[in-house]
Amino acid sequence: MSYNYINKIGKILCIGRNYIAHIKELNNLKPKEPFFFIKPQSAILKQNEGPILIPKNVVAHHEIELACIIGKKLQNLSPDKFGPKEALDAIQGYALAIDMTARNVQAEAKRKGLPWSISKGFDTFLPISPLLSKEIISDPYNLELNLKVNDEHRQHDLTNLMIFPIHKFLSSMSSIMTLNPGDVILTGTPKGVGIVKPGDLIECWCSIDGKEVGGSHMKFDVAEKRGFYVYHEE
Ligand code: CA
Repeated sequence: MSYNYINKIGKILCIGRNYIAHIKELNNLKPKEPFFFIKPQSAILKQNEGPILIPKNVVAHHEIELACIIGKKLQNLSPDKFGPKEALDAIQGYALAIDMTARNVQAEAKRKGLPWSISKGFDTFLPISPLLSKEIISDPYNLELNLKVNDEHRQHDLTNLMIFPIHKFLSSMSSIMTLNPGDVILTGTPKGVGIVKPGDLIECWCSIDGKEVGGSHMKFDVAEKRGFYVYHEE
């Protein structure tokens, strides 16, 4: 299992609202087209690199997601020519990732019509696994995503519940910005998101037909972020 792909990451794009039950739990509307936001590379946290850091006064939520690592340049791919097979060919491999989200910061941004960058972009807000190969994950829609906080198993859903499949959102994204080898796409979170606090232990893994995927299991302590940032709601 290797983290080599991390050095080649260009941009990190995250699909929002790609699982119905999660859209409902946050009272959001189902999008007609996939939408996405960008997370900075500086948010990446590898296994054994340290704890997830929660800034002061931030209500942080975990969102477990399947990440696709792009293997080919993708530009302007019309949906009728870019199907499931072409999409799988274009993917180098996968990773398991947690899209950590400062929910109260995001709620204020949404309310004011401001960007989400701060709420998604704190250091350590993207814990991510080593590369999981296409040989191991031969069907990206038959993967159970699992996340536990302390002893509570909060997220456990199959990726076949995605609203927009991989070929659909890659085609859509490629009409907006060129995707390059090394770019990472987070595919959205299933239901069960919840609060993570300093002192918690987060554990996550993915499984195929009940069997854990080797290299996917990660554990992170959670601690308070040092420094002078304090969130103040306005
Ligand atoms: Ca997300």
